[in-house]
Amino acid sequence: MKRALRNTLALAGLLLMIGSFAWMQFRQAETPERPRESKTARSPTTPSPFSLVVLDPGHGGQDSGAMCGGVLEKDLTLDVARRIDRLLDSEGVATLMTRLGDTYVSLADRAAFANRVRNCIFVSIHFNEDNKPVASGVETYYAAHQITAGSFLASWLPFLWRPLSDSPNPESQNLAGFVQEALVARTRAVDRGTQARQFFVIANVTSPAVLMEGGFLTNKEDISKLASEDYRDQIAAAVADGILRYREAASQRKSTLAATAGESAE
Ligand SMILES: [Zn+2]
Repeated sequence: MKRALRNTLALAGLLLMIGSFAWMQFRQAETPERPRESKTARSPTTPSPFSLVVLDPGHGGQDSGAMCGGVLEKDLTLDVARRIDRLLDSEGVATLMTRLGDTYVSLADRAAFANRVRNCIFVSIHFNEDNKPVASGVETYYAAHQITAGSFLASWLPFLWRPLSDSPNPESQNLAGFVQEALVARTRAVDRGTQARQFFVIANVTSPAVLMEGGFLTNKEDISKLASEDYRDQIAAAVADGILRYREAASQRKSTLAATAGESAE
C-alpha cells in the first residue's frame, strides 16, 4: 500500500515537472528573441510578405561540412551569412541567424528556431562537394514537401507529428527562383538551376524556405573564386538581391489580390 502511494507521488511529481517544463517553453515562445529594428521604415501602404529573414549558415562546430585543402564549408557559410546579414540590415530588413559563431546546431534546432519566428522566410547557406572535380556552379533548392503550419505549441514539441504538404510551397519555389537568378547574374557561375529536394532543414520549416549551394569546394575554379572576399561579397549581394526581389514581387501580388478583393466587395 505504502509502495503504491510512493509510486503515485513519484508519478505526480514527474507529471508536474513535465507540465512546468512545457509551460516554461510556452512562455519563452511568447517572447522570442527580439529582431533588430529596421533602420528604414517601410511605407505602411506596401504589404510586406515577411517581416524577418532567418539566415542559416550551414554546419558549424564539430560538423565542418565539405572540406577541401584547408577550406571548411562551415567557415564559408558563416562568412557569407554575415555578409548577407550586413547587406539586409543596411536595406532595413530584420534578420536572425541560426548560429553566430563556430558552434554546432542540429538541423532540428535550426528548423525549430525558424518555426518560432512568425512571418519569416528561411535561407540556408551551403557549399557543395562532388566525387567528380568537374562539377561546378551554383544551385538553389526548395523542399518537395514542407511541413504544414500546426499549432504554435507544436513548434516547441518537435515530436508532435506534423503533416507534409502534397506539393512544394509555391512561395519557397518563387524565392528559390529569385535567389538563383540573382546568383547567376552576379557570379556568372554555372547555372545548375533550382530543384526540389527533401533537405531536412527546409522541409521542416513552415515558412518559405530555400537552401542555396554557392559553389563546389571540390572544383578548382570554384574554390579559387571562393577564396576571394570580393567573390563572397558577390554571392552575399546576390542572395540579398534575390530576397529583395522576392519581397517586391510578393508584395505586388499581395496588393493586387487586396485590390481585387476590394473591387469584388464593392
Ligand atoms: Zn552543406
